[in-house]
Amino acid sequence: MANAKPKMKLKKGDHVQVIQGKDVGKRGEVARVIPERNMVVVEGTEGINVAKKHQKPTKATMQGGIQDKTMPIHVSNLMLICSKDGPTKVGYRIDPNGEKHRVCRKCGAEL
Ligand SMILES: [Zn+2]
Repeated sequence: MANAKPKMKLKKGDHVQVIQGKDVGKRGEVARVIPERNMVVVEGTEGINVAKKHQKPTKATMQGGIQDKTMPIHVSNLMLICSKDGPTKVGYRIDPNGEKHRVCRKCGAEL
């Protein structure tokens, strides 16, 4: 059984768009990658995969509260954004030096 290690196509600082789930269409920037789970945390102005975290009242404040917490999102729910084409599939190109470059599958631009 071939069980290839999942390859992370995304890295910190990438601009991505959500293509599945409750936040479809939202864009943000990859703030953190979790390669072993194939997930990333995306920070965006619109809030991507934000969970409401309830806090119990404390003696000091006498009241509880709700805090927003950005949760990791699976990379399959995201697409990398090409500045020319918008959300795009990622391809790879090997240059003459044998180095691998991530490219836009539509226009071939390096991403
Ligand atoms: Zn492109």
